[in-house]
Amino acid sequence: MPSDSVLRLVWIYPDLLSTYGDQGNVLVLEQRAERRGIPVETVHVRSADPVPENGDIYLIGGGEDRPQILASERLRRDGGLQRAVARGAAVLAVCAGYQIMGSTFGGEEGQPVDGIGLLDIASGRGAGRAVGELVAEVDPALGVPTLTGFENHMGVTRLGPGVRPLSRTVVGTGNGDGTEGCYAGKVVGTYLHGPALARNPGLADLLLTWATGTQLPPIDDTWFTRLREERLAAVVPRP
Ligand code: GLN
Repeated sequence: MPSDSVLRLVWIYPDLLSTYGDQGNVLVLEQRAERRGIPVETVHVRSADPVPENGDIYLIGGGEDRPQILASERLRRDGGLQRAVARGAAVLAVCAGYQIMGSTFGGEEGQPVDGIGLLDIASGRGAGRAVGELVAEVDPALGVPTLTGFENHMGVTRLGPGVRPLSRTVVGTGNGDGTEGCYAGKVVGTYLHGPALARNPGLADLLLTWATGTQLPPIDDTWFTRLREERLAAVVPRP
């Protein structure tokens, strides 16, 4: 992103995948960029509309099975997100959105449904629903503090060799194999709601750093820190 230009955020399909408050991720990115003097322009793309290719960061949230299937079909047909990633855009995909980034995911009867293939992952349905607080230690290469968030999904996700785990779970289920989320290039997927970026400002700053290509000055994170500490203190390990 050139230094004098606007940071473009693209919120994908609020009409289909906005069930779990993940739109908060957009607000956090807007706010953390603006507090650093970076002007922001946000586009909300409804599922009937084409996905613009000139965004810097794309966000896609969680949702229920049928809207998830519809969203995947439309994104596949549209191709705008895939072209944006090919030219270097960053993506934060949460839960249903995360599964859509892979090659396949489980539909409402567990049937395999095609994803859009931006991440080397395949998801299916697990034995039960994973619900509750999640804590995970992030890949040290990313320099992001411990993740905290809330998960609510049936899916389990298998990571292929083309991605790295985003983190290792300390509490909770995540991908279902001891890892949580994954990333490849500037595409990040996670099961975390909360919303994820309100609970993990370090992850927000990672996306902003990737998108702007600059080191960001620190900002006052008192309220984010209080929220993290409160949620971490409330976590009860699940059996
Ligand atoms: N429908 C998917 C699942 O249950 C995603 C759920 C979600 O986005 N929270 O795995």
